[in-house]
Amino acid sequence: MQTHFTATQLADPHLREADSILRTCVHCGFCLSNCPTYALLGDERDSPRGRIYIIKDMLESGGPARPSAVTHVDRCLSCLGCLTACPSGVDYMHLVDQARTHIEQTYRRPLPERMLRQILLWVIPRPALFRLSLLLGWPFRWMWRVVPGRLGRMLQTMPASFDSPSSIHAPQVFAAEGPRRKRVALLTGCVQTVLGARINEATIRILRRHGCEVVVARGAGCCGALAQHMGRDAEAQDYARANVRAWHDAGIDTVVINASGCGTTVKDYGHLLAGDSAFAAMAESIATKTKDITELLIELGVHRAVSPPKGIEIAYHDSCSLQHGQRITRQPRALLANAGFTVRDVGEAQYCCGAAGTYNILQPAISDSLGQRKTANLLATGATAMACANLGCMLHLSRFSDLPMVHTIELLDWAGGGPVPAALAGLHESVPAAS
Ligand code: SF4
Ligand code: SF4
Repeated sequence: MQTHFTATQLADPHLREADSILRTCVHCGFCLSNCPTYALLGDERDSPRGRIYIIKDMLESGGPARPSAVTHVDRCLSCLGCLTACPSGVDYMHLVDQARTHIEQTYRRPLPERMLRQILLWVIPRPALFRLSLLLGWPFRWMWRVVPGRLGRMLQTMPASFDSPSSIHAPQVFAAEGPRRKRVALLTGCVQTVLGARINEATIRILRRHGCEVVVARGAGCCGALAQHMGRDAEAQDYARANVRAWHDAGIDTVVINASGCGTTVKDYGHLLAGDSAFAAMAESIATKTKDITELLIELGVHRAVSPPKGIEIAYHDSCSLQHGQRITRQPRALLANAGFTVRDVGEAQYCCGAAGTYNILQPAISDSLGQRKTANLLATGATAMACANLGCMLHLSRFSDLPMVHTIELLDWAGGGPVPAALAGLHESVPAAS
């Protein structure tokens, strides 16, 4: 693609990077087949190729983003399906991040939208505040049908139940069982700390069983993805710096991540902090030490299942951040099969389920359409339950069917001697349920 940035613009490293990304696009359109918003809306401006043109015009003009450009960039899920499909290696991930930053810096959203985004940015990365807001809002959950706008949407997406606070999230070290093979830091996650403590508990159990000392490092917290996907670069970098410092000081061998959205972001810390001379090398080192839990288990050589479950068919849902962001599709399937589960692939696996961080709140109509489409594909497998690598997908998809939803690591932990995942307890009364 031809670009027309001025020499002055190209002196800016961000625009120089955008220019080189844009120039790799050859307009072939192969990416369209992987784009869920294009599949749903059929509008070229809601396809990767269309957005690339929009972003090019927006960045070249350098002025305030136009409302139409904001509309189409906002509708992008950052699912990165286009990244997987593109034969030319167009780095859409960093291009759309730049577009979001430009929009955030030059476009004034309506006040309610600004307030909503600010609230999400403030509350979600702070587990105590997030829990408090859920506790306060929970009694009014039923009112989502009558409360208009995004407030109603927030009530609608509120989970039916949430976990009690867990002591595992405090800074501490969990000793390895047997000789120590690795010292790993666990990113406990923001939403997961409040709504998915069981996932972190299962992760710690399985890592300890495999000889890992597990560190919950003091000072580590939100990965920064939430801020980054809202165009708030500086805040995302602050979160990244805090994590890099905490894990560096903890002297770990590996950072293990069980929330795939966070994993994609942490693996990109080298890029996010490339302009910070004090942190760039440390950030790159942490990024290269970061592994999804399934990658790490394969590397450790997972033990044979202690109590292989019988007759459980799992529809494995490839979360976008794992399949497109990290290109991990084989490892979870291999681990689940090794543990005794029958794994079913889900139709249209390349499409996002519509959760996409805060997208399900910010773009409710598209999010729900994608959720319903994914659910139809999940149910068509006839599986007993769905497994995936991202709590966000589980929470979102659980609104559309009664299919039990579990994190992959809950199943692997169960098969290795851990408790039955709570979501499956009713289905398998012969096996003692998780407390
Ligand atoms: S597949 Fe890649 S090169 Fe082709 S239009 Fe899409 S982004 Fe551009
Ligand atoms: S990131 Fe996803 S929604 Fe956005 S353009 Fe690419 S495929 Fe489409």
